[in-house]
Amino acid sequence: MRIGILGGGQLGRMLALAAYPLGYRCTVLDPAADPCAAQVCSHIRGEYDDYQALYQLVLASDVITYEFENVPVATAEWLAERKPVYPPPQALAVGQERLAEKEFFTRLGIPTPQYRPVDSEADFHAALRDLGLPAVLKTRMYGYDGKGQAVLRTPQDCQQAWQRLGGRPLLLEEYVPFERELSVLAVRSRDGQVRIWPLVENQHIDGILHRSLAPAASAEELQERAAEYVCRILDELQYVGVLAVEWFQDGPRLLANEMAPRVHNSGHWTIEGAYTSQFANHLRAITGLPLGSCAMLTKNAVMYNFIGTLPPLSDILATPEASVHVYGKSFRPGRKVGHVTLVATSTEELEEKLPLWDELFARRSVSTTDAQNGLPL
Ligand code: AMP
Repeated sequence: MRIGILGGGQLGRMLALAAYPLGYRCTVLDPAADPCAAQVCSHIRGEYDDYQALYQLVLASDVITYEFENVPVATAEWLAERKPVYPPPQALAVGQERLAEKEFFTRLGIPTPQYRPVDSEADFHAALRDLGLPAVLKTRMYGYDGKGQAVLRTPQDCQQAWQRLGGRPLLLEEYVPFERELSVLAVRSRDGQVRIWPLVENQHIDGILHRSLAPAASAEELQERAAEYVCRILDELQYVGVLAVEWFQDGPRLLANEMAPRVHNSGHWTIEGAYTSQFANHLRAITGLPLGSCAMLTKNAVMYNFIGTLPPLSDILATPEASVHVYGKSFRPGRKVGHVTLVATSTEELEEKLPLWDELFARRSVSTTDAQNGLPL
């Protein structure tokens, strides 16, 4: 079986690595000369709207998927006329535009922070009057890792944010004083079978994921609710593959922040921590194979991202519970260049070791661009 992947970043790379044991071959399409996935599979260099390159991908693939949600919907639809494309292009259309996403959640009865579309300065003032401060102003498209957004606490913040972001299609959201951020990953097969990994607690620094803790503590009830919501999304979209949904927990409220129709950073722990990793199950789903168990292999798993730079491997691996993944990318501030997953076999072991791991894997670099986006630490 030949898998075509739009995007050749670390997610494409980890998909390709998970394809090897299944005997699958992968080809990524990516505009970069040397995307990191190309170190482990074939690469077609081309833009996502370069139809000659896309046609080459069609010829090289039996089934096509994508590893980031900003693939043009027209591209996914064009490919889907020629080869099976999973997840369905409609999931892309919802996942890449924040207003469509919020309206979709609302239509399915899934709670989400209050929001107002902002298409003009007058809309912005009306939305601010409605929602009050603090609030979060976000671009509707191409926002990721906290980019293209600003937290507004004062009238001066509003002015500055409008200067920076105004003119683009925007969304104003209520600021949620959340207790913690959670995510749920689920996978749906071609014949509608669904499996769900445990809820994960995520910590962000400067809008970029720093640490994921699986499973999220004391989350049995929330797990059930998140599972019910995620099933509504999967069924509505007749989804195939892995879907991630990010949540804010505010007391008993679980509010959907955003969804990603792809494998997700907060699921990297599944490589070592679950019977079947998100990458393996995504491949099983899109190629029509039975899904593997999403149960945890260990009591707890903790994942830390390496952002901008990587500690020496010998330092990371001096911790015996550590499994390291280096993405083969050049170092740049704010760039995800690798991650480490650590497992604990008991709650006591986690409580003992977590402070130590937190210290060892503290973020070492903060990019200037991320520091400018005004998100809370
Ligand atoms: P996003 O790109 O929407 O995932 O936002 C990046 C990060 O900004 C989130 O992980 C939150 O930490 C924070 N954030 C986004 N939206 C809100 C909100 N409405 N209220 C509070 N924090 C938010």
